[in-house]
Amino acid sequence: MKKKILNKKFICIIAGLLAVAMAIFALYGYRRREQRNQKGILLSFDDYSPDSWSDAFELLDEYGAKVTFFVTLSEPTDFCAEAVRRGHEIGFHTVQHVKMTEMSDSEVYEQAIAPIKTFREQGYELSTFAYPYGLYNEELNVELLQYYDTLRGAYNYVGRYKEDLHNGFIESYSLDNVHFESDEAFHQQISEMLDSLNNCNDGTIAAMYSHAIGGGDWCITAERLEILLQEAQKRNLAFYTFKELQ
Ligand SMILES: [Zn+2]
Repeated sequence: MKKKILNKKFICIIAGLLAVAMAIFALYGYRRREQRNQKGILLSFDDYSPDSWSDAFELLDEYGAKVTFFVTLSEPTDFCAEAVRRGHEIGFHTVQHVKMTEMSDSEVYEQAIAPIKTFREQGYELSTFAYPYGLYNEELNVELLQYYDTLRGAYNYVGRYKEDLHNGFIESYSLDNVHFESDEAFHQQISEMLDSLNNCNDGTIAAMYSHAIGGGDWCITAERLEILLQEAQKRNLAFYTFKELQ
């Protein structure tokens, strides 16, 4: 008799624990879906500027911004390890920053496909690729999408639903200094772009990119990067890496 009561108690405890666990899972799933539906920014930096990028790590952390670094390298470096440790993503941008539309099949393989294995052997799963100079064509898209989940182009701003990324190719808006006459002009343009997300459905993302962080034409100054981070924070926009959207 006593044994039966003990058994019943035991079953009740197990059932209770299961119920709690299921509730936690359900809540986690709901929060996860909600987070994934938050409008946001897909920010990336191209080429390879480990010093200026490392200098910006703290600024990005301050705003909880995770970004993607599209590196031009033949193999991963210490910078890649640190970026991943901090929650950022390493994407790929060819070995030698070549014009992909001018490459032969074997050059396309050497520049964009073979490195996937080299990186994998050192613990990096490259699943996103950015075209140098934004140069691409449909044939390349078809070829590279056999190896990458997402391909990133350049120049244009298009507010996109995150689901569109599953089609594989997304253009991206250039934040480089050369496009803006002053910090004020930059500030105004960014504010207008981010405001335009107000009229979009949940789950819309704006893809943007630059290169090194600094004062050159094809860079973004740390001041302008902070303007972007502040304006995004004001509007409760999330920062996503490419992998997070796949
Ligand atoms: Zn580039």
